[in-house]
Amino acid sequence: MPNTLFDALFAPLATRDDDFLILPDGGTITGRAFLAMVARQAHALRAAGLGVGDRIAVQVAKSPEALAVYGAAVALGAIFLPLNTAYTAEEVDYFLGNATPRIFLCDGARRAALEGVAARHGAQVLTLNADGSGSLTEAAAGQGAEITPADRSPEDLAAFLYTSGTTGRSKGAMLTHRNLLSNAEVLVDLWRFTDQDVLLHALPIFHTHGLFVASNISLLTGGKMIFLPGFDLDTVLRLLPQANTMMGVPTFYTRLLDDPRFDRDLVGHFRLFISGSAPLLAETHQAFEARTGHRILERYGMTETNMNTSNPYDGDRRAGTVGFPLPGVELRVMKGDTELPQGDVGVIEVRGPNVFKGYWQMPEKTREELRPDGWFITGDLGRVDADGYVQIVGRAKDLVISGGFNIYPKEVELLLDEVPGVLESAVIGVPHPDFGEAVFAVLVAQKGAELSADAALAAIRDRLARFKQPKAAVVVAALPRNTMGKVQKNLLRDQYRDWFTR
Ligand code: ATP
Ligand code: MG
Repeated sequence: MPNTLFDALFAPLATRDDDFLILPDGGTITGRAFLAMVARQAHALRAAGLGVGDRIAVQVAKSPEALAVYGAAVALGAIFLPLNTAYTAEEVDYFLGNATPRIFLCDGARRAALEGVAARHGAQVLTLNADGSGSLTEAAAGQGAEITPADRSPEDLAAFLYTSGTTGRSKGAMLTHRNLLSNAEVLVDLWRFTDQDVLLHALPIFHTHGLFVASNISLLTGGKMIFLPGFDLDTVLRLLPQANTMMGVPTFYTRLLDDPRFDRDLVGHFRLFISGSAPLLAETHQAFEARTGHRILERYGMTETNMNTSNPYDGDRRAGTVGFPLPGVELRVMKGDTELPQGDVGVIEVRGPNVFKGYWQMPEKTREELRPDGWFITGDLGRVDADGYVQIVGRAKDLVISGGFNIYPKEVELLLDEVPGVLESAVIGVPHPDFGEAVFAVLVAQKGAELSADAALAAIRDRLARFKQPKAAVVVAALPRNTMGKVQKNLLRDQYRDWFTR
């Protein structure tokens, strides 16, 4: 069994004359043609000075060529470092300062804005789209279509993937070939992927979900991907009939359900819908099944570990849970250094071949979160139910401590979400002169519903201990979310910081 990313994922494309990528305009790219793209880019990057163990940071719009850069980097034995395309020059400055890559690859249109930033950190700038000087596309055009990959071992680093920055500054998780491959192999088995599958791929490829979970699985099995630059509803609705599997964040599913054109006829033939990266509301789960007859399979993962748990392929896909630990992955629930009994809520820790090697240039953070015996302290709060299903209850950093009592925001959010007229809610802690922190609720109304914040609070009053009840609530049009659909509670905490003290 090949044990490095190039050998396992990219080399097999050499014999594929069938389509590997299907593009929104109807164009297709065979496996062989894609591998040739990878090889040409690798030659051009090598000519630009990229070698074994070097870092290459990449901030480019999603495209087949952008995915090929991942292959080219691992072919050279370099460390691939994708960055969120939404990051501003100021944010890129932080990442390049932390990563100090040899090469920084950006879109031609952004070169002028980012050149100075890259120069400050000693990175050579290349662009992906033809724009004259320093274009990888042009440099690759003159290169040979075959490549001998650098000699690598499974324990070598393959990528630094930055965390989403939901709870603080993004950290660069160092991932080895083995980290990523072991996970992909398990998932292929668990989710029954084969070369017959056509995966609708609308996720970004700078994040673990779209880059590693989705793309690695397709590459490993010889399946096809309908490769979309983003989640454009019209395009997705048009192409769903050609796909039989899809991976998405919860917002993909709510957006589909919001459109009356999305119905059973469109996806009756589907094999699997998977959701992750943020909690899937029970309401979405149920509405999706009612509309399509399919139960979404929810799973749980993170930048540092790729994937940890999955609901079963056969058997009960339980709403509100993220299923069972993957084969080979251990999971436990802790309070400090003590393991809690089954059913209790605590901090989730995981251990296995998927767990990263530490945060780049952050030895202290690494020591705080990665125990010497291999357990990773995820920072997520959760419990394991009597049947072994894992439930995520929130994040340790989101825990509200009011008047000395611990309140899990999720418990309050679940009740608020049941109030007629409430679509969703976010519960946070806000500074309070008497309680230290007070529970505060941010509500979003269902389409067309009249919602009063006070009435919503009154509706849950009899169902919650007094100390858990929100002291105040507001109704807003939408919760702030990042590109992966995660609610940005830090923004809400900043916004309502003075509510009780002004
Ligand atoms: P940072 O670590 O920088 O604060 P982040 O944790 O949001 O950011 P990611 O690694 O992209 O960065 O996200 C992983 C987190 O996403 C998990 O720790 C968990 O909190 C959340 N998550 C992923 N899947 C699920 C899920 N199915 N249900 C609930 N939460 C999920
Ligand atoms: Mg995290």
